[in-house]
Amino acid sequence: MKCLLCENYSLTQHICKKCQQEFLQPSLYKRKLQNGIEVLSFYRYKEIKPLLFTKHTDLGFHIYRLLAKLSMKKFAQEFQWQDKVASIAVDDTVKNGYSHTAILNKALKSTTITPRFNKLRAQNTLSYSGKSRAFRKANPRNFIVNEFKEKEIIVVDDIITTGTTLHEATQSLIQRDKEILFCLTLTDVSKR
Ligand SMILES: [Zn+2]
Repeated sequence: MKCLLCENYSLTQHICKKCQQEFLQPSLYKRKLQNGIEVLSFYRYKEIKPLLFTKHTDLGFHIYRLLAKLSMKKFAQEFQWQDKVASIAVDDTVKNGYSHTAILNKALKSTTITPRFNKLRAQNTLSYSGKSRAFRKANPRNFIVNEFKEKEIIVVDDIITTGTTLHEATQSLIQRDKEILFCLTLTDVSKR
């Protein structure tokens, strides 16, 4: 197949090893939500923007698995904490055969982190794409939190734009007496 980034032929990968080395080595960018919770992200938006557009396609399944392996998995293997923590993906509903946020979450599995699935579900799935902060605020996600035992949580999503969704997601968990350690996203739109 052809590498999505350089268009050279790659035998087994949608993105060739050379491009993975050159373009997809994760960094660590930080931002705070309005409730003070820190959001860590791995890539500049412009670096992976075309890859994110594969979401909900067959190709997206492979691309998200690759990005998850290069960033989330690597992070999880280096992450140390005194207690066992859970990782929860924002709205890991299956669309077109898979959930892109569940793929990211699954990659966090380690001796410290237990990924939990179907725990944070949006009742309002209206698209926020290209919408203002005011629109997002006027149409909250209204998350349902399903019970799980861990108290300390890492919240996972693919992208942070205005931060409205992650703010609402973390507040929903805090109301259920959970403690948020931080959020993890692939990319932060404000880091260009
Ligand atoms: Zn390439």
